[in-house]
Amino acid sequence: MLAAPQVSAFLPPRRILMGPGPSDVYPEVLAAQARPTVGHLDPLFVGMMDEVKSLLQYAFQTANPMTVALSAPGSAGMEACFVNLVEPGEKVIVCRNGVFGERMRQNVVRLGAVPVLVDSPWGQPVDPDAVESALKANPDARFLAFVHAETSTGALSDAKTLCALAKRHGCLSIVDAVTSLGGVELRVDEWGVDAVYSGSQKCLSCVPGLSPLSFSPAAVDKLQARQSPVPSWFLDQTLVMAYWGGGKRSYHHTAPVNALYALHESLRQLAGEGLEAAWQRHRDMHLILRDGLEKLGLKFVVDAAARLPQLNAVYIPEGIDDAAARNRLLQEYNLEIGGGLGDLAGKAWRIGLMGYGARRENVALCLKALESVLK
Ligand code: PLP
Repeated sequence: MLAAPQVSAFLPPRRILMGPGPSDVYPEVLAAQARPTVGHLDPLFVGMMDEVKSLLQYAFQTANPMTVALSAPGSAGMEACFVNLVEPGEKVIVCRNGVFGERMRQNVVRLGAVPVLVDSPWGQPVDPDAVESALKANPDARFLAFVHAETSTGALSDAKTLCALAKRHGCLSIVDAVTSLGGVELRVDEWGVDAVYSGSQKCLSCVPGLSPLSFSPAAVDKLQARQSPVPSWFLDQTLVMAYWGGGKRSYHHTAPVNALYALHESLRQLAGEGLEAAWQRHRDMHLILRDGLEKLGLKFVVDAAARLPQLNAVYIPEGIDDAAARNRLLQEYNLEIGGGLGDLAGKAWRIGLMGYGARRENVALCLKALESVLK
């Protein structure tokens, strides 16, 4: 018999999370998560789930009945879009301007489908002209997939224009809104988004581990017209809807009950503030941060026109040791900012202003702390 390990309770410090996510969690959300666990088919819990659904519909600005929170992180939301909608041999136009566009490509390849890549340099938004050329050159394409807010670079793409292009060319749009939901304008129905997913840990300021997902009626039709079964049991939305679809709920998997209390509370906070007010707050905090970063001599990776307010990527100044500087921020200020990812690893810092983290005191602390480590 193995001896029982002797370990103490894990008591994490209260960090200020200003990286690419997870973001600072609302105190009300942490409190909600600590409430007593009930059964996931308990009528009271089921009633709360109905509220989660309507709160998600508000956050996405959609009336889509197929709007759920997957019991898994944002990557599962991405995978759910591809495994449910894309069949082997189908062509998918994939826009790649950072890490997550490349992850979309990998999903397409694993399904035996055919990716057609539209590449843009890191730090730039997806180019609608290049997308239009790809759509014209590939009239047999069935999908256009892109990342709305590319967290690896801080670039915001024009989702409204891209979804309109997809529609004009008979494609369904698959949109990654992991970092955009709650932080910048996103109007799923008005813009004609067909499949969209997000993550709980960014601008929703919830605990990590859940992925809001919504399919338009056209996407649901595509799912229902599949020639082959969805190749993932867990992510098959026709099965998941037995639980989320309203009416009589039946067991699919054991829902992460307390995490869903947390999501309910974070979405309630967003609805209480109002979506447009939340978008504006992110913008306001970004402008204050931007002025301070520029005073410190830091240069942004992304041009002002396509800059995400909630993810500020700046080049690390010459002569500064990336890991040492970030370690000092953590040790001396309890402050986490993100390092670079992919092509920007070791070259840029990513400063998040997401959800509850997009506050004046966070901006002030971050600027003060950076000033001291850059001296
Ligand atoms: N897409 C984007 C744009 C992201 O920023 C992330 C995570 O950072 C993901 C997808 C994957 O989400 P998760 O890490 O929750 O699986």
